[in-house]
Amino acid sequence: MEKYINELNEAQKAPVLHKDGPLMVIAGAGSGKTRVLTYRIAYLMNQGVDSFNILALTFTNKAAREMKTRIADIVGNAEAKNLMMGTFHSVFAKLLRFDGDKLGYPANFTIYDTQDSQRLISAIIKEMGLDKDIYKYKQVQNRISSYKNSLITVKAYYNNSELMEADAMAKRPRMGEIYQNYVDRCFKAGAMDFDDLLLRTNELLTRFPEVLAKYQDRFRYILVDEYQDTNHSQYLIVKALSDRFHNICVVGDDAQSIYSFRGANISNILNFQKDYDNVGMYRLEQNYRSTRNIVNAANSIIAKNTNQLEKVVWTSNDDGGLIKVHRSPTDAEEGRFVAGSIFELRMQNQLPNGNFAVLYRTNSQSRAIEDALRKRDIPYRIYGGLSFYQRKEIKDVLSYLRLVINPKDEEALKRVINFPTRGIGQSTMDKLTVAANHYNRSIFEVMENLDRINLKINAGTKRKLGDFVAMIKSFQVMNESADAFTLAEHVAKKSGVLLEFKKDGTPEGIGKMENIEELLNGIKDFVEGQKELADAKGDIGEFLEDVALATDLDKDTGDDDRVALMTIHLAKGLEFPYVYIVGMEEDLFPSAMSMNTRSELEEERRLFYVALTRAEKQAYLTYTQNRYRWGKLVDAEPSRFIEEIDEKYIENLTPVQSYRYTPLIDVDIFGDVDKSRLRQNKPVSGTPPKTIKPNENQLRKLRKLKPELSTPVGNSSAGDVNLIEGAIVNHTRFGRGQIIKIEGVGNDKKAEIKFDKGDIKKLLLRFAKLEVL
Ligand code: ATP
Ligand code: MG
Repeated sequence: MEKYINELNEAQKAPVLHKDGPLMVIAGAGSGKTRVLTYRIAYLMNQGVDSFNILALTFTNKAAREMKTRIADIVGNAEAKNLMMGTFHSVFAKLLRFDGDKLGYPANFTIYDTQDSQRLISAIIKEMGLDKDIYKYKQVQNRISSYKNSLITVKAYYNNSELMEADAMAKRPRMGEIYQNYVDRCFKAGAMDFDDLLLRTNELLTRFPEVLAKYQDRFRYILVDEYQDTNHSQYLIVKALSDRFHNICVVGDDAQSIYSFRGANISNILNFQKDYDNVGMYRLEQNYRSTRNIVNAANSIIAKNTNQLEKVVWTSNDDGGLIKVHRSPTDAEEGRFVAGSIFELRMQNQLPNGNFAVLYRTNSQSRAIEDALRKRDIPYRIYGGLSFYQRKEIKDVLSYLRLVINPKDEEALKRVINFPTRGIGQSTMDKLTVAANHYNRSIFEVMENLDRINLKINAGTKRKLGDFVAMIKSFQVMNESADAFTLAEHVAKKSGVLLEFKKDGTPEGIGKMENIEELLNGIKDFVEGQKELADAKGDIGEFLEDVALATDLDKDTGDDDRVALMTIHLAKGLEFPYVYIVGMEEDLFPSAMSMNTRSELEEERRLFYVALTRAEKQAYLTYTQNRYRWGKLVDAEPSRFIEEIDEKYIENLTPVQSYRYTPLIDVDIFGDVDKSRLRQNKPVSGTPPKTIKPNENQLRKLRKLKPELSTPVGNSSAGDVNLIEGAIVNHTRFGRGQIIKIEGVGNDKKAEIKFDKGDIKKLLLRFAKLEVL
């Protein structure tokens, strides 16, 4: 047996050595799923499977690169070169470059990023004369994205009365038209958005059996990591491609399914055994990543979810330290604590910065942490948020390059046609857009044919448009012979973008020039890197594709040593010796948006499970008592997730004050309360609790539990807990309102409230912070 196989335990060897046919590995965090996938690929190649016949789909391109490097160590570089590995989006973008012409797309199609899609949708909403406060472009974009991921085309949309009704109910009866316009405009611009990469692949595989057969024959072995987070569109692609040979290997953990808001569908895991015959089912139980305390704490949390596959995770690693919980008065203090702690640990143990990660629920939380790290001179890198490639100056240069590759690219054109200023104003652009729609052509094509069509554009402007066209064409000519770096440098100069920022002369302008320089360096590196591992030429088109599909982790070159800051969603699959999970507060984590149903809350809990299981040696949970949210300082209370961890795995660094009870929790809390139960998502057993007015005795108890109640805020008093229909209440976020209806019992008790601001909301009383006025 090959030596590397012994780097696996017995349970891991089984799926690696599994013969042909479908197999699934379901196992908890850190148990070696990704390792199994990697080693299986190497093993298949050792068994004589041609690398050309293997397709591996990963969550990030960085993960794919790491796997490829490991495989290359085992089987050799030349062999590993042909492996098709990457995210769904990047793999199928490649496939569409070959065969997208059958669907009418050019091989050089542009990939619109989210920003491009949103700008186009905004433009369409404006052109249609719709109210942008009702047709909010981000919401519209989300809707369109979810249609596409459920394979609902425009035609299917119009055949789906339920969907149309839902949009009409949401006061957006013209969604279908926007969708249609959006699809048309993308098509005309020779552009696909992210969702198209999956949707069009599905379309290609269903409409063209010969194409399907070709790829079925090529990808005889298909392997998918993080299978729990595949959406319907991805599921169908995998299903179609593996339909001939059935050599499909998926690994995942239902307890780490955290993308259902983006359409990920856990039933893909649950149904795997129904989808294929003779599925080899494997489980891994030993965690190699984390200390015993971390593993046990994580187990105690995830056990609170009712909806999950049964799993055991244990470790033979040391106990390690307890999970440290820290409370601070404000988020600035929280930042100081994290920075101070990293500083100390780093000094004491001579650790690199890369050993530390700070994870948060939402991007906006990074600011306070960044401030504190900067003050301590600790280098850090933020993943996510506004990515490097989305900075204005970078996107400007990239847009010129995009036009070189695909001049029909409307979003790129609109971005740079008048940057730097060339005296081509909005009214000219409007005329061009109307003409383009009229002739069913791209704006660039209209610009190329200005003398043949009758447009009310004056001669001066026509000349400027002609100059622009000529400039892009000259870049195209250069692209035929020059390498990507030389071209990009030339474009940055000749387009005037560099000069524009140089003229500016302010520190910001200089910073932007430096960023462009960084971009050019990146292109140089890319060209050289491409030649090494992949079988690509490294031309500018490939670079643009890489950029468009780069997940935020992909920019990590790993060559400098920094603390990592990122959202928990992005941290999936990664590991760090020291992990700080900050903002462990109710309404933040779990997020206030996820309190409406049990399944949403369970997803938040899985997110917490993912966060905690990233830690190898030590995990810190921090929360604040006050936090700025939506521009206001609000009281914060510790997250229920802290309480859900079995307390024997926890060490409080600060005396923890009991969390605030809102006066509207069911009557149980006035009796003998099992505090922890109230914070769990479990129904309280026994007779359904009633909402009653507490007597003096109970009030005394309540005051003891919740000091704030002894000094009532505003008009409220602890006696006013009797929630009845008609009562006037105040909600911390939604303001004043009147209860229209109360329904449900116990933990499910809800109030329907008409708020003075106009909306009617149904709130779960357990969580709603209501004050009776
Ligand atoms: P996640 O659920 O977070 O994606 P995973 O199940 O994919 O985790 P891996 O990332 O493959 O787990 O492995 C976790 C860590 O344990 C890695 O550092 C890996 O190298 C190590 N590891 C896995 N199996 C073994 C083993 N048999 N011997 C030593 N180390 C191992
Ligand atoms: Mg993994």
